[in-house]
Amino acid sequence: MAATSNTVRGGTVLPADAARWAMWTFVVVNAVIVEALFLSAGSGKNGVLTVAKFFGLHAALLMLFQLLLVARLPWLDRRIGMDRLTVWHRWVGFSLLWTVLTHATLVVLGYATLDDTSMGKTFLALSGVPASLLGMLAATIILLIAVISTRSLRRRLRYEVWHGLHLLLYVALGLAFVHQLQETTTFTSSAFATAYWWILWLFAFGSLLTGRVAMPLWRNAYHRFRVTAVVPESDHVVSVYVTGRHLDKLPARAGQFCIWRFPGHNHWWLANPFSLSAAPDGRGLRLTAKAAGSTSAGLRNVPVGSRAFVEGPYGAFTSLHRTRPGALLIAGGVGITPVRAMLEDQATGDVVVLYRVRGEADAVLLNEVRHLVALRGGRLHLLTGRTAEGAAPPFAPGSLHRLVPDVTERDVYVCGPPAMTAAVLSSLRALNVPARQVHAERFGLA
Ligand SMILES: Cc1cc2nc3c(=O)[nH]c(=O)nc-3n(C[C@H](O)[C@H](O)[C@H](O)COP(=O)(O)OP(=O)(O)OC[C@H]3O[C@@H](n4cnc5c(N)ncnc54)[C@H](O)[C@@H]3O)c2cc1C
Repeated sequence: MAATSNTVRGGTVLPADAARWAMWTFVVVNAVIVEALFLSAGSGKNGVLTVAKFFGLHAALLMLFQLLLVARLPWLDRRIGMDRLTVWHRWVGFSLLWTVLTHATLVVLGYATLDDTSMGKTFLALSGVPASLLGMLAATIILLIAVISTRSLRRRLRYEVWHGLHLLLYVALGLAFVHQLQETTTFTSSAFATAYWWILWLFAFGSLLTGRVAMPLWRNAYHRFRVTAVVPESDHVVSVYVTGRHLDKLPARAGQFCIWRFPGHNHWWLANPFSLSAAPDGRGLRLTAKAAGSTSAGLRNVPVGSRAFVEGPYGAFTSLHRTRPGALLIAGGVGITPVRAMLEDQATGDVVVLYRVRGEADAVLLNEVRHLVALRGGRLHLLTGRTAEGAAPPFAPGSLHRLVPDVTERDVYVCGPPAMTAAVLSSLRALNVPARQVHAERFGLA
């Protein structure tokens, strides 16, 4: 979800801005505390070791911040969006790597200088010290994960393989925690330091366990999701209808997505994100999936009556971020799913829909979209065909402006393939549509 602004709506701070402020306040306050603790704890055995400690403390802070970014805390997720939080997680991850490597190098260099010996010998000697060994193992795991997360390697790995290896980071966190505990000065430099680090670690792990484990388990036990119908929409697209108990209590909004598992049908470790393709009505949920790989292709074989394990709802692609009375909803291909749901959300106001597909036969849920747009007295432009060489693409600034002359007066919601989404976002910038009015959902989290 891309919504940036520090302006206000009707005198109140926009939700995305409130969340950004909360995040920055958290970071700045904790950085100040950590620096104060560093200064008050006194210097290390030599200058290099003092600087090493500075980096070590900040590595711990970055690690804890990483946990919060992936904790899927509903308040943050609805305001910032999982895709943007994942991008931040990626950048904080690489910063963490460099901080950890600098810390480790300076520790070895510091002790080598102290003992007047080589760095190689010092490294071997330190690996015999339990506290240092744990730190080294944590650093090695962080390095491994950073390597497999570089774009070129990530592209070559299957999502499940990459994700499985990525989970090793929790092992690294455990090792880093014990490493920090055993390092004499950090936790014990003062009573305040002891209390601060314990509270911070408990808060970060508590948030993670709440958002990633406790809430999904509780929700599934409470709602008991079950498949009620599986309806092919075309040769490659299928809709799955799910019901459950007390669905009126599920805090889902049109435009959001869930992470779905169908135990018994797929392996339990296969979980895929799919948007809600109809606005939640308190009685049922629906996903509509295009066959991309074996899981999405196999959804048409999920038996009616089978259990579903649903995580979420997640995402900030909703009318919570609306800033204008009217909306332009732009969808490409199966990116229509959250847009279709938003058409049932009156909060999006007066709507214009641009739906880009190769041919009318490829337009998923087209009849429903037509019907809902007509009900709301909106406008639908079905943009078919491939962009011919030399012809102006339909989302070039001029074309977009011709189709929707008041585009700058609307909130614009975009969901489609990455290339199309990027083209639309670039045209909106060229047309000077304020960034706070632009909201995008990307069908890729990793
Ligand atoms: C927020 C969001 C909403 C989405 N909504 C829809 C929708 O409404 N309809 C629809 O057809 N598609 C949607 N997608 C895309 C859909 O999740 C993938 O097409 C699907 O997971 C493919 O899984 P597969 O096992 O069939 O194919 P695979 O061949 O295993 O995967 C194809 C690609 O999908 C991505 N993918 C697979 N599993 C995951 C995962 N667990 N998390 C993130 N990415 C994954 C990977 O990049 C992979 O390369 C959405 C994606 C996201 C991130």
